[in-house]
Amino acid sequence: MKYISTRGAAPELSFEQAMLTGLARDGGLYLPESVPSLSHAQIAAMAGQSYEEIAFTVMKPFIGDTFTDAEFKTLIAQAYAGFGHDARAPLKQLAPNHFLLELFHGPTLAFKDFAMQLIGQLFQASLGRSGERVTIVGATSGDTGSAAIEAFRGLSNVDVFILFPHGRVSEVQRRQMTTAADANVHALAVDGDFDTCQGLLKDMFNDFEFRDRVRLAGVNSINWARVLAQVVYYFSSAVSLGAPHRKVSFTVPTGNFGDIFAGYIARQMGLPIEKLVIATNQNDILHRCLTTGVYQTDKVHPSISPSMDIQVSSNFERALFDAYGREGAAVAQVMDELKSTGAFTVSQGALQALREVFTSGRVSEAETSASIKTTLAQSAELLCPHSAVGTAVAVDHLGATPMITLATAHPAKFPDAVEAATGIRPALPPRMADLFEREERVTRMTGDLAALQALILERTGA
Ligand SMILES: *Cc1c(COP(=O)(O)O)cnc(C)c1O
Repeated sequence: MKYISTRGAAPELSFEQAMLTGLARDGGLYLPESVPSLSHAQIAAMAGQSYEEIAFTVMKPFIGDTFTDAEFKTLIAQAYAGFGHDARAPLKQLAPNHFLLELFHGPTLAFKDFAMQLIGQLFQASLGRSGERVTIVGATSGDTGSAAIEAFRGLSNVDVFILFPHGRVSEVQRRQMTTAADANVHALAVDGDFDTCQGLLKDMFNDFEFRDRVRLAGVNSINWARVLAQVVYYFSSAVSLGAPHRKVSFTVPTGNFGDIFAGYIARQMGLPIEKLVIATNQNDILHRCLTTGVYQTDKVHPSISPSMDIQVSSNFERALFDAYGREGAAVAQVMDELKSTGAFTVSQGALQALREVFTSGRVSEAETSASIKTTLAQSAELLCPHSAVGTAVAVDHLGATPMITLATAHPAKFPDAVEAATGIRPALPPRMADLFEREERVTRMTGDLAALQALILERTGA
């Protein structure tokens, strides 16, 4: 299986190379040359299987011969062993035909753990046999950073630097990033917002001399291996509601478009998904784009669902690549336009292609709080604000097809917003109860690229 860039001008890579690289050298994102499909019988056979068994079947065709079957099975088993729920991604019912997929039973209580725990294992296995060392730099609006630190801390072949927007993450998120005692972990609080952090990251990837010197590796959702790991729970949940014999739809609280893009891949692989509903908070660039055809950046408006507070939605580029008939040059052109003018118009044909699969909705802050409150009253479920954005949008899209809304984080990760909406302060699971007593370790940074690169060189000795 070969991986190609969405901008058509970077070398083709193997799965392992694409995983260790992250962003392509032409600025694009890697995608498989063609998406393998699973047969009706293969999907039907998943009924009753464990999460790990389904994970193997779904991901195996994408990884080629990177790992033997036995190795890959072991890595999958180790990735999910630390989860606090045997089903890994349990499905609950909220209302007739509306279901909630709980993706917050991993070590940092957000869906990011599904991908990050797995790629921590895959990196370790791959670097372990080559003896190479890499520097992982990640930008986070909160959850990616904590998940990455939890997955990579203490590993011998990896330094991990996490950039997060100072003052814009919840206290639980911050503490999950700043309290790891391992010497290979570096939490960096940057003056600015998530887009500042993501911009710095992209600039470092585009500085080839620096990139090669520190052997930069990216674990943001631009990393294909992360998207791939998330495809699995679309299968496990849909099968438990009767797929492939019955269709399902999904509503996905969306920021960088990585999670919902995994649903798009599941659909391409043959999972009968009717609609993928993009749920956004007041940072609604994707909703506006799907509605009007214009992708127009705006300022980030901080919200109670901070992991979705972004304007440049990186993985949307992958959907655009398909919508533009897989013409890298066309994608490169709209991305250049975005960079120079802050906006571009999606062509009629591409917009139509996107609308065949995706639909969207947007909720305000008040509606998010109301959704937390009514879901507790009507379904006895305490939702985090991101999941509440999802359920609020999903309610407008319920119909004959079962709807699965993704619950992307545990309510205890965002206790202030949950308490404000319901009067109930959600408690951390017992395995994390000492988080507020642990010592914090963090470096404050401006948004200056040169200073950041100097710090990384110094800390890694590269
Ligand atoms: C990352 C995150 C999202 C957004 O996911 P994307 O893949 O960036 O679209 C939503 N909710 C939570 C809790 C997250 O951590």
